[in-house]
Amino acid sequence: MQTSPQSNDKIYDLAVIGGGINGVGIAADASGRGLSVFLCEKDDLASHTSSASSKLIHGGLRYLEHKEFRLVREALAEREVLLAKAPHIIRPMRFIMPHRPHLRPAWLIRTGLFFYDHLGKREKLLGSNNVYFKEDSPLNAAITRGFEYSDCAVDDSRLVVLNAMHAREKGADIVTRTRCLSAQREGQYWVVDLENEKGQFQIKAKALVNAAGPWVAQFIKQDLQLKSPYGIRLIQGSHIIVPKLYEGDKAFIMQNDDRRIVFAIPYLDQYTMIGTTDREYQGDPAQVKITQEEIAYLIEVSNAHFKNQLTQADIISTFAGVRPLCDDESDNPSAITRDYTLALSQESEDQAPLLSVFGGKLTTYRKLAESAMQQLKAFFPEMKGSWTATEALPGGENMASAEQLANEIRAQITDASESLAKRWASAYGSRIWNILGEATSVEQLGQHFGQGLYAKEVDYLCRFEWVTTSQDILWRRSKLGLNFAPSEIESLDVYLANKPNTTVAA
Ligand SMILES: Cc1cc2nc3c(=O)[nH]c(=O)nc-3n(C[C@H](O)[C@H](O)[C@H](O)COP(=O)(O)OP(=O)(O)OC[C@H]3O[C@@H](n4cnc5c(N)ncnc54)[C@H](O)[C@@H]3O)c2cc1C
Repeated sequence: MQTSPQSNDKIYDLAVIGGGINGVGIAADASGRGLSVFLCEKDDLASHTSSASSKLIHGGLRYLEHKEFRLVREALAEREVLLAKAPHIIRPMRFIMPHRPHLRPAWLIRTGLFFYDHLGKREKLLGSNNVYFKEDSPLNAAITRGFEYSDCAVDDSRLVVLNAMHAREKGADIVTRTRCLSAQREGQYWVVDLENEKGQFQIKAKALVNAAGPWVAQFIKQDLQLKSPYGIRLIQGSHIIVPKLYEGDKAFIMQNDDRRIVFAIPYLDQYTMIGTTDREYQGDPAQVKITQEEIAYLIEVSNAHFKNQLTQADIISTFAGVRPLCDDESDNPSAITRDYTLALSQESEDQAPLLSVFGGKLTTYRKLAESAMQQLKAFFPEMKGSWTATEALPGGENMASAEQLANEIRAQITDASESLAKRWASAYGSRIWNILGEATSVEQLGQHFGQGLYAKEVDYLCRFEWVTTSQDILWRRSKLGLNFAPSEIESLDVYLANKPNTTVAA
């Protein structure tokens, strides 16, 4: 293999494969403990599962039915930890569960909610209560009562990007659009073979972390030529986005006749996001797409609950992802554990370790990263202690609330609309000032591509957030893609094609 300008003689402590939430979470935690970290992602950050989630930081009420108490306790407590770390991209949300007595009796739900209120530490989030629906309810007249409880909503792909930024700010080298082709142990090191558009190159590391998500087992078998300690089940989940089904900022958790649950979640002011499904998936994880059957299923569940009846013609957009779940040999895809398993392998004491991540949730990524560090501690005894519980993610520093920040933005950029200021505040938090600088009007932010996207924001994204294509901006750094016209995308593409590379070093 040739050496390229990207190769260097540095021996990293950790090489992390995969720029989804688990890879970047581990990279950030390890860098903050003083380890030298390299992370590669074959596509854009959060291109796969980590941008296709239901976008909830939640305990997972339904996991209580599967007796996943450890997971639920950890996830419940993480809600407030993450809310404090990233108040710009995470917000509390109330969930309404309409009561359908033939599916689950009220006493069972009340017991579940009692555990939900008390299993994990809760200071800011409100507890649960009963609700009664009147004629003005968006629900069908037959649904007269239900329950309400708290969880949080998150911008999933930005959670990934902010963790990658955090890792870089602590010294990590993060490279995107760079695939790990293979890796082999050479004595106490891993030699990692990589490829990107500039060519092939190698790096060395004392430990290898396999956070390849849906590719975790394939990576072990094909790229490392080793035996995977666990099987992986790929379970597809899909969502539809429709015009706002109802007013207000609460989500609904709908129980279906098959005992599964489906969420209807307010999305980007104008829309409702409905999902998810659970179906076994056999194909290439990169090619997953919603099926007709899933669309029909989601519409049916929604129509069984809401007065506002949907047809396929109402669908504005869809997305699908595959959960990389650790195979516990469960027959029912909904019942497979959502908990994570970390597998450390090392055939002899002087061999470089491999740590593979199976399963997990966005919600528990930080705890997963702490467990990963715990497992690697024996190899890096000088490593510092845990730190991520209290340090804000980039943009979450010195922030009271997204609403207050939006007001401060409008006080400076006087012609910014309320919705634009709100979008900026909830995407960038206090880092928005790095984009706006001294500007006092939107005109001073350079070329306007449409939908409130100006050149200054694009420049910032290219420099600090690993953006190289319009798709990165429109679907992962933002969701502006939902409203961008083809001509607007074209002008953004032209701008990006002519822009010199300004990315900050790794
Ligand atoms: C439909 C659905 C809904 C969900 N909803 C929620 C929710 O509301 N809340 C929640 O907490 N969790 C939710 N989850 C779970 C959560 O999204 C996943 O657990 C999490 O995103 C998995 O992250 P990951 O980093 O393991 O995988 P990924 O995000 O898939 O990242 C793995 C990365 O590794 C890269 N990679 C693979 N092989 C290589 C290689 N050889 N070289 C370089 N890079 C490589 C891939 O390109 C990929 O980007 C949901 C999941 C799904 C599918």
